[in-house]
This record gives sequence, C-alpha cells and structure tokens, in this order.
Amino acid sequence: MPPESTQEILGLPDLKHEFTDPGNRIFIYGRLKQRPACPRCKHPKVHIKSSFKRELRHFKLGNQLAIVRFTSHKFRCPACNCYFNLKLRGTLPKRRSSESFRLDVFERHHGGMTQKHLARTHEISHATVERWYQGFIKNRVDELKGRKVPLVLGIDEHFFTKKKGYATTFVDLKNHKVFDVVLGRSEQSLSDYLRKLPDKNRVRVIVMDLSSTYRSIVKKHFPNAMIVADRFHVIRLINQQFIKTWAQFDPVGRKSRGLLSLMRRHEENLKPEQKVKLDQYFLVYPHLKTIYDFKQKLTNLMRLKHLAKDTVWLKIHDLLPMIEELKASVIDAMKTLGETLHAWKNEIGRMWRFSKTNSITEGLHNKMEMISRRAFGFRNFNNYRMRVLALCGWNGIINRKRSLKLKLA
Ligand SMILES: [Zn+2]
Repeated sequence: MPPESTQEILGLPDLKHEFTDPGNRIFIYGRLKQRPACPRCKHPKVHIKSSFKRELRHFKLGNQLAIVRFTSHKFRCPACNCYFNLKLRGTLPKRRSSESFRLDVFERHHGGMTQKHLARTHEISHATVERWYQGFIKNRVDELKGRKVPLVLGIDEHFFTKKKGYATTFVDLKNHKVFDVVLGRSEQSLSDYLRKLPDKNRVRVIVMDLSSTYRSIVKKHFPNAMIVADRFHVIRLINQQFIKTWAQFDPVGRKSRGLLSLMRRHEENLKPEQKVKLDQYFLVYPHLKTIYDFKQKLTNLMRLKHLAKDTVWLKIHDLLPMIEELKASVIDAMKTLGETLHAWKNEIGRMWRFSKTNSITEGLHNKMEMISRRAFGFRNFNNYRMRVLALCGWNGIINRKRSLKLKLA
C-alpha cells in the first residue's frame, strides 16, 4: 500500500489529494482534511449527519477537463445542536465549479473567446458563461465602492453613442485607471454627479484639455485643486491650427499625406532626407517656413516638463511674446490659437511643472472603445459604465503584480 498522500489539491486547501484517474476526463479524488469546527459555538468535535458525493469542475489541462470528486457532509454540532453544511475554501456553496474555474472562464471570455466556444470547451451552457461574466463584473464594481477620489485627476470627454452623445471620463492619472465615467459633458449633466462626490477636496491636480466648460465646472466643484492644461491636447491644438493655416497658403500641398506627416513631426524626428524634402517645399512658400519655425518653437516650449518654479518664470517670458504675436496675426487660425493660449496661460505655466498628461486617458479611451465594440455597442449607459469600471478601473491584479515587483526588488 502506498504511503498516504499529505498533499492538498491545488486551489482547494481543505481537500487532501487521494488519487487521480487520468482519462478522457481527468478525475481527481480528494478527501476532507479535517472536520470543521461548529460555525456557531466553535465546538471542535462535530458529528456527520449525512454524506453525499460532490463534483467540481476545477481546471482545464490542455483540452482536458479536470473534475474534483469528493464526499461532502452535513454536520451536526453536539454542543449547540445546530446543523450546517461544509464550506470549502476555493468554492462557493451549491456551485458545481470551483472559483478558479469560474475565473478562468471569465478571463477567457474577456480575452475574446465566444460563449459558444467556452460552452464547448468548459462543458457549461452559454447562459452560464454570460451569468459568470456578469457576476465577476458586478463583484469588481462592488469592490471599487468607497474608493477614494484620486489626487491627480484627468478629465476628458469621449464619444458614447449617437443617441446619447458624449460622456466624461475621470481618470486616476497616477495609477492609470478609470475612476469613473459619467454621461454628458455639460455643466448640467456633470454637476449632479460632482455634487455627490465625497472627499473631492482631496484632489490636488486636475489635468484637462482647453475646454472652458470643464474649467468652470472644476473651479466650482474642486476649489482646492490646481488646474493644469493637458500637454497632449495643447500640442494637438497647435498642430491643428498650423495645418489650417497651411491649407490657406497651399490647399493642394496640404492634401499630400507625405507632406502632412512631415509637417506634424517634431523636428528632431525628421530624417536628413526628409528635412531636405521639407526645405525644398518651403523654397516655394517662404512665408510658410516662418510660420513653421514659429510652430516648432512653440511646440518645443510646450513639451517642457518637470521644470523648477524659477525656470517656469523664465519660460513664461518666452511664451508671452509669442502669444501676443499670434493674437496680432492676420491669419484667423493663428489669431484663434493666440486667444486660446492667452486664456489658458496660467494652466500652461503649471503644465511645465508636471509630467502627467491625458495621453493616459486617450489610451484608456481606446480600450473602452474595444469594450464597446466587443459587446456590439451599449444602449444602456449604466451597463457600459459597469463594464468600463470593472475592466479599466479595477486594479486588483495590477496592484498585486506591482507589489510583488516591489518585494522582489
Ligand atoms: Zn455548535
């Protein structure tokens, strides 16, 4: 007789592994390690009232399904005379699959595997896949309840649906997670949400695009926060207005995709032959060259970050005359740019002190679009919000990984 195994079944710490029957389906036989104590009075010696066989889908090994078989019991406590069922760690009562098995289905479905496929490989019904998926989403959203408002908040809009229009994203820029999504982007649609937001006075920095609506909302609801212009949007605006100007000079050249890509690029990213090409083009439009150089100088200024307070002052003195020059321009697009930058000069000055930008938000927006596409669109905003929070806002796994890395380092 082989010595009795003391090993537990992986993922089910209350079961001792007895033997495995490999076959078309893998059956793992287990036995309860020890009787539990009475949950009510903690009496250690409980009696078995009845026994029954239980089967749990536990994991997939390659294309085989591993099922755990064991005898479960109903117990009676002789001290307080109560009856209770066995509670097995790694499972929930009355389920025929272990929690790790359910998580596996969730992860695979989230990764894009269809219900139909999973129903076949994991031997469950379509409806079960859907129910488990929704269950995990709900759990994650529940776990998020009561979380604190982030210290560094990014605010940006994104398109939701044709019928319902835009939504506003609040992003935790430190942890790269969505804090929340709210339908609408106007003062009216956001104020209800913001009024109810607890501990919003915690927020120190808010990064946003150059939208005056958002600015007035933020000033009203986050009196302690510092508003910082979003570098990503500022540079994009400069480029947009420059390209509009260019279209005035040469509408045909503006339509050339090759030239457009050269014009948009930062100077140091141009290869020598690309620089030659651009210079040749500018020979024909010398005025455009002046504006182009101006634009390069302006974007280089906007790319500064982590500056000391004193340096910010110096750079402001570089920026202000440029803004005046733009405002005095006879070209409409340049004039508009000058006026916008003027209205945001304080927020731009603060931008130089920080490095966080809403490019993080932009990345999350791409992810959210994928979520929406995978679900073939959402009609109900709340369902969409749940999905976004669970998939872009919940940081259980990432935090665990990060803390592990810190421990190892
Ligand atoms: Zn008891």
